[in-house]
Amino acid sequence: MFKNQFPFFTNKPEQVYLDSAATTQKHDSVIQAVNDYHCSCNATVHRSAYAIANEATKLYEDARDSVAQLINSASSAQVAFNSGATESINTIAAGLQPHMISGNKILILASEHHANILPWQRLAKRLGLSIQVVNISLQGQFMRSDYETLQKQLNKDVAILAMAHVSNALGNIYPVEEICRIAIQQNILTVIDGTQAIAHMTVDVQKVNCDFYVFSGHKMYAPTGVGVLYGKIELLDALLPLRLGGEMITRVSFTDAEYQAPPLKFEGGTPNVTGVIGIGAAAKFLMANMDEIKRHEGALFESLSRGLYNRDDIRIFGNVGANNICVSDSISASKTSTIFNQSIGLCSFVFNKHHLNDVAALLYQENIAVRVGHHCAMPLMNLLNIGGTMRVSIACYTTEQDIQYFLETLNRALNSLC
Ligand code: PLP
Repeated sequence: MFKNQFPFFTNKPEQVYLDSAATTQKHDSVIQAVNDYHCSCNATVHRSAYAIANEATKLYEDARDSVAQLINSASSAQVAFNSGATESINTIAAGLQPHMISGNKILILASEHHANILPWQRLAKRLGLSIQVVNISLQGQFMRSDYETLQKQLNKDVAILAMAHVSNALGNIYPVEEICRIAIQQNILTVIDGTQAIAHMTVDVQKVNCDFYVFSGHKMYAPTGVGVLYGKIELLDALLPLRLGGEMITRVSFTDAEYQAPPLKFEGGTPNVTGVIGIGAAAKFLMANMDEIKRHEGALFESLSRGLYNRDDIRIFGNVGANNICVSDSISASKTSTIFNQSIGLCSFVFNKHHLNDVAALLYQENIAVRVGHHCAMPLMNLLNIGGTMRVSIACYTTEQDIQYFLETLNRALNSLC
């Protein structure tokens, strides 16, 4: 029901797009909002008082309100726009530098995206901090024992916990609310990377009670080059901005400057106005349709994971094996209900006999877009002892027909390679 709201598929009806974890197609309302801005009030924001500049500023700030509402932020001031999750995490890591002391530990999950590893690595190297990793099972499942280990690792030596809400390489949903509750008791700062969660589930930053939550627009039907840094207001107040330049100040001399309050303090330079207007429209679309999106994607994911899991020539990684179908050697089903919330939107797997690229090439010939590789999670791939996986990821515009076509084509491809 959503596919016809995405003009890409009108232009490319033959394309079966199963790489939405990499980037999503753009919703009609997003394209329309960006187009309207370009056609009717193209001007920069927050700087001028003529009519179209005011109009542009209003659209920009309305978008901030919509995004704040999407994640249930207590105020719009806690939502800063930038170029994406990568910039958000870099901003947090650099901004926290003056607040760290030698010997502090930074805790990350083994399945983190490079964007949630490299900024911490640099911070650690600069200040003599150490990075500690929470391991997950060799099948990529987040098991009860991993959760218990994580609980133990959340001790007073840890200054920062940085982890994804949903893994981009495995699809695991992590129990961030429970984890943040423990972290907060230990005064640990929590940085949640919601990049793979935001388009697929209801995100409530006040309920999660994390200190920071970040995501990118292009994974939620908005344009590329726009993203969000959410933070608790007292932390945003204390955080040094990374991007210094126009508009983010209240006063500048040749030797000194005073910064604006959040969020503008993090938006130095001419912002990506079109991107922000686009992400505002996407936020509205998600809020209006989230129940239906969850229902639709849930049914598709069930078909996809069952279709793959039933094959004995494929090895699936992540919670999909543990929760949706096979519960044998993982957390028992009864224990999964409250904390271990399964996986979402994607299946990651390897072939027992075939190279990922050989199979992918055959799928590409049949207009199926999937991703093969390390998914910017090289340390995870090393831990799992594999070079990469094939990742099939869905979004609200994916149809059951897409899934069945993929499963049939995969079957044909694997048979032809035998
Ligand atoms: N975090 C996760 C979980 C991701 O999946 C991605 C992108 O794939 C990123 C961070 C980085 O996002 P971006 O490249 O949009 O900044």
